[in-house]
Amino acid sequence: MIKNFVLFGLAFCLTSMHASAQPDRWQQRVKYTMSVVMDVQTNRFTGSQTLVYTNNSPDTLDHVFYHLYWNAFQPGSEMDVRSQELGKILINGHRDWDSRVRDRISLLTPAEIGYLKIISLKVDGIQQALVDHGTILEVVLSKPIAAKSKTNFEITFQAQVPLQIRRSGRDNAEGIRYSMSQWYPKMCEYDYEGWHPTPYVAREFYGVWGDYDVNIKIEKSYKLAATGVLQNAAEVGWGYDQPGTPLKTIAAERRSWHFIGNNVHDFVWAADPDYEHLVRKVDGVTLHVVYKKVDSLEKNWHQVADAAVMALPYMEKRFGKYPYPQYSFIQGGDGGMEYPMATLIKGPSLGTVFHEWMHSWYQMMLGTNESLYPWMDEGFTSYAEGEISAYYDKLMGIPSDTSLPLHHAGAYGGYYFLMKQHLEEPLSTHSDHYNTNFGYGINAYSKGEIFLEQLGYIVSDSIRDKILQEYYKLWRFKHPNAADFMKVAQDVSGIQLDWYKEYWISTTKSIDYSIDSLWGENGVSKIRLRRIGDMPMPIDLELSFKDGTREIHYIPLDLMFGNKPAESNETRLMHKEWNWTNPTYIVEFSHPLSQLIQAEIDPSRRMADIVSKNNTLTLTW
Ligand SMILES: [Zn+2]
Repeated sequence: MIKNFVLFGLAFCLTSMHASAQPDRWQQRVKYTMSVVMDVQTNRFTGSQTLVYTNNSPDTLDHVFYHLYWNAFQPGSEMDVRSQELGKILINGHRDWDSRVRDRISLLTPAEIGYLKIISLKVDGIQQALVDHGTILEVVLSKPIAAKSKTNFEITFQAQVPLQIRRSGRDNAEGIRYSMSQWYPKMCEYDYEGWHPTPYVAREFYGVWGDYDVNIKIEKSYKLAATGVLQNAAEVGWGYDQPGTPLKTIAAERRSWHFIGNNVHDFVWAADPDYEHLVRKVDGVTLHVVYKKVDSLEKNWHQVADAAVMALPYMEKRFGKYPYPQYSFIQGGDGGMEYPMATLIKGPSLGTVFHEWMHSWYQMMLGTNESLYPWMDEGFTSYAEGEISAYYDKLMGIPSDTSLPLHHAGAYGGYYFLMKQHLEEPLSTHSDHYNTNFGYGINAYSKGEIFLEQLGYIVSDSIRDKILQEYYKLWRFKHPNAADFMKVAQDVSGIQLDWYKEYWISTTKSIDYSIDSLWGENGVSKIRLRRIGDMPMPIDLELSFKDGTREIHYIPLDLMFGNKPAESNETRLMHKEWNWTNPTYIVEFSHPLSQLIQAEIDPSRRMADIVSKNNTLTLTW
């Protein structure tokens, strides 16, 4: 999703690199076959679901859990109460609740609420015992599911589409009739940590990998876009069969739309009678842009389609191949929210377009448990968004922001601001359990984005890029966790990085280095550096001299047990490692002291040093 908070206001030795082993962690598998009939007058639908559930775990399961997300859109729900409680917190005069949710759930009438009701849930024809937990349904199985076995669940359900509050719903601010996300009974994930029955209170998802076969019957004038490939395109028309074809005329009152999406962990669809449809093809992928025509924005929606075509080759080069047959940019929802092979976006903003599409990598393929590691999807995606936006701007000749660190200065600014507010919490906080929305937003998005940019500072940008590619190769279509990513990063870089995860992810300790003092001694020039912050880092120190030359002095951190390669053609002088326990370190250099005009710690500004003014010493002789 996109961020919804407002900022007020050569020692490297390639031969030591060893490939990571293929992960052998088991994971569950689902195959959903669903059929729904929508009544556009009452905004209700009935559905049937067959779920073939493969228990690949070594465990016998005597109960299972389902998400029934839409029960959140009822007065008094956990989402409602949580939002109102956050609204009591004032940060710089602003209420901390999500501006889309506020207290709106409490005001919904019975015809406006959302619900997802299970009519029957059977295994082998036997009705199962159900325990209602609001947005989570617990099923107590009459017969446990044995390890390494398959079970068929048969569900019939009824639902009412809520008035659009958050992500899904009807009649959103842009007038889209149906934004259909989180709309069906969805099996919770069971993994090596056990069940993850996370109540729907705000954000973040985690799903089981599998295949979806979905048939939607809806009033015939409605036009649809969804996860997956439309199977009856010839019957439907509307650009799905051939470019520019109209929606086919049919006699029946309702039309069926049949989509199949394979190897995904969720399924979204959206419907509106006034949708327009642009189609593009790039690199074997069909792109759909589906939006409601507003003349003043028409050009921008075409730009979305063109920009997507231009960006994909670069996205694939940097982050790995997009493996699905299609992707749909669908106008809907309330901002930007990612789903497999599709996104719901409010409007044609290119930043949002790049962001949501990049979630196809960081969440839809690299399926982290977002509740536990929101920084691994929102942070990594925000990082990629910055890179792609910069690439696109360059391609289009649009002047780009040259603030340091390039393409990511906004994230650093957000993080520094958070630290000033003293609202920081460790990145390892469960995404629903942050004390404030504000803290969650900056942590997950900005501090997560910095994690990757700063990793470039530690191991070099080029090695960081290789890490991301290896991560993709090893972990796509799986559920990587933070330790898995760090293992790949260490294996590719040959640098020990456990300390980086520990400090940056598990604590709120921060970085502050300073230039302490400068003197000459027996003809040797010396600079003392001081670590003021609690978090240790390797140091790039740039010295500039009167004769116009510059040199980089590189001081690895002892905990790294390695060095990054040189990152530029500038002279680089290696120093012995800085033991993290020492608050100071003395750098010696050969130029006479009187030749020095400036000393600067990390001129690239990729190191998130919270006090920048003590990083530079400028001398006037
Ligand atoms: Zn996002």
